[in-house]
Amino acid sequence: MNKIITRFPPSPTGYLHVGGARTALFNWLYARHTKGRFILRIEDTDVQRSTQASVDAIFEALKWLDIDWDEGPYFQTQRFPIYQEYIQKLLDSGHAYYCSCTPEEVDAMRKKAMETGGKPKYDGTCREKKLSKGENTVVRFKAPLMGTTVLEDVIKGNIVFQNSELDDFVIQRSDGVPTYNFVVVIDDIAMGVNTVIRGDDHVNNTPRQIQLYKALGAQLPVFGHVPMVLGNDRTRLSKRHGATSVTAYRDMGFLPDAFINYLVRLGWSHGDQEFFTREDLIEKFNLENIGRSAGVFDLEKLLALNADHIKAAPPAKIVPHLLPFLKEKGYEAEAGPYLEGVIKTLNARSKTLKEMADGAEFYFQENLIYDENAVKKFLTPAVLEPLSQLIAELEAIETFSEKALEAAFAKVLESAGLKFSKIAQPVRVALTGKTVSPGIFEIIEVLGKEQVLSRLKNALGFING
Ligand code: GLU
Repeated sequence: MNKIITRFPPSPTGYLHVGGARTALFNWLYARHTKGRFILRIEDTDVQRSTQASVDAIFEALKWLDIDWDEGPYFQTQRFPIYQEYIQKLLDSGHAYYCSCTPEEVDAMRKKAMETGGKPKYDGTCREKKLSKGENTVVRFKAPLMGTTVLEDVIKGNIVFQNSELDDFVIQRSDGVPTYNFVVVIDDIAMGVNTVIRGDDHVNNTPRQIQLYKALGAQLPVFGHVPMVLGNDRTRLSKRHGATSVTAYRDMGFLPDAFINYLVRLGWSHGDQEFFTREDLIEKFNLENIGRSAGVFDLEKLLALNADHIKAAPPAKIVPHLLPFLKEKGYEAEAGPYLEGVIKTLNARSKTLKEMADGAEFYFQENLIYDENAVKKFLTPAVLEPLSQLIAELEAIETFSEKALEAAFAKVLESAGLKFSKIAQPVRVALTGKTVSPGIFEIIEVLGKEQVLSRLKNALGFING
């Protein structure tokens, strides 16, 4: 087969939502898997509802997901001359005609058709009139009256539509603006798109689109209609179920790779594998394993997967995603070995980046904030002696290796006749302000000698009042 060419054509009438992101991903992954091309097209012909803010929000979400495109972004509003050319082609070949019926007349036809048990249709009044363009004329497609139009869907199988139930739909309105079903087909033909994966809310548009391809003598693309994403009550995912905007998940602290893993699994499978890196997905994604039944969005599963990705990712990969959360808390953290060290101590205990930023706070606090109960319980006069000794031992260590640290602690414990836990908790509170934290030695290694000694000394001072 020729190079696979897929596309993602969002209508900029709102932010990028979960379902749209999944469609984008499927097309992007399939293009990457097959070393094909992926096109981004902004379907902004509905000028009433399209906004620049939505365009920006869609770009922002795609950027976060790290979905890149090989062509575009195209904007349909900049392509009217191309559409005009194709309208003319259809008029010239007798596949389209001008119609002067008023909207009221068309409404009446629809009503009448419904009264006699039929589908609401235009009745073909102007079909053979050979009218010329007039002030209020629209252009209609001359659809086949009999037979069937078959959608051979790679996901749903064949779906047969009776042509008698479809009508001569408008392809250009009286104000010259071409209609949705028309421009989608023209763009897909003009851009060489040969694989169309989209939500199954578009199934009913497809027979009309197929008829246009045929009238233009163009080759049909492969169509695949993906079932909608559902909420936990099995109705279509909407705001009632929680956040539906992709960037809301960024702001909650999800890693983009975890989010795409989850979205892809919500409609595609590879045996019973749940965890996929981005590279894994590119390697394994195919159309055959897109499921026929709708995926149910489950935040708990997404959280669990996020935790797995946070744990598995190299710390350097987490850095750019964690930084905004630290900034938000007012810490001027920087990318580099220190932050990577911090992440290493927290990546096995954080479900989200937000949690990780909470857990990382003590590393960045200039003046450590002690938890009141922790202080009461652990920073007591009884630990003055061993803490002072520990400070002396640590001061004598040249470089903080795990071995040297263990030896220093062992010495203090032995001479004080204490168990490790008796000193570990006070040290923990001295270094982190809290009773729960990553392992003491891990923390000490990350903080480094200077910070550790200064924090231990501050704790001594605190106990001494
Ligand atoms: N612009 C359409 C939408 O946002 C997509 C059309 C298509 O995929 O053919 O739903």
